[in-house]
Amino acid sequence: MTASNPLFAVYGASGCGRGVMPLARAMLERAGVPAERLVFVDDSSAQAEVNGHRIIGFDAFVAESAVEHYAVIAIADGATRERLALRLAEAGVKPWTVRARETVEMDQVVLGEGAVLSPFVTLTSNITIGKHFHANLYSYVEHDCVIGDFVTFAPAVRCNGNVVIEDHAYIGTGAILRQGKPGAPLVIGRGAVVGMGAVVTKSVPPGVTVVGNPARVLDR
Ligand code: UDP
Repeated sequence: MTASNPLFAVYGASGCGRGVMPLARAMLERAGVPAERLVFVDDSSAQAEVNGHRIIGFDAFVAESAVEHYAVIAIADGATRERLALRLAEAGVKPWTVRARETVEMDQVVLGEGAVLSPFVTLTSNITIGKHFHANLYSYVEHDCVIGDFVTFAPAVRCNGNVVIEDHAYIGTGAILRQGKPGAPLVIGRGAVVGMGAVVTKSVPPGVTVVGNPARVLDR
């Protein structure tokens, strides 16, 4: 396997990356690509290898001879994903979407580049999702939702229908987002954080953190 073959990377070799790597490996296996063409890229790992895959730095990845370079950014922090997406694009690395085999996508789902769909994620019908979305284990997105760029779902997020989630929002483990109405969606504002287990019954302004049931803005 040499320069005439593509090289694939999972960017980030910590908790998120180690959860994405087996999904990435399985995708490549199904496509007949050998596992040695799949590496971790990490800017500060002290290790040379984890879970059987090499860890290399960004410069080494880009310099490694390959017909194409692909990377999925497996880092939960959305701002970091945005910064690294730019860096990768400038270096000519193509964004890569990694899906677990046990995911369901129904009709008219538009999923932006560079997403991670973990096992048992369901995207139902008529959904639009932006770039570098992370949907962790068992999360779902129901009908008629619009999700922006660099949005992160921790595990088991229940995003019901007619919800709008703006760029860089973070939805914590087990949060429930109440269904909006056609023409009057429930909106999670840009950069808002929804705490774990929160039950969100009304729109959340940009930049705030909400917690509890019913979810309220956290005073700092
Ligand atoms: N990382 C990186 N480049 C960056 C920022 C982060 O390589 O510009 C790596 C970092 O070294 C670490 C991983 O990404 O190995 C992020 O790990 P962390 O545990 O903070 O987050 P998670 O894996 O939970 O998303």
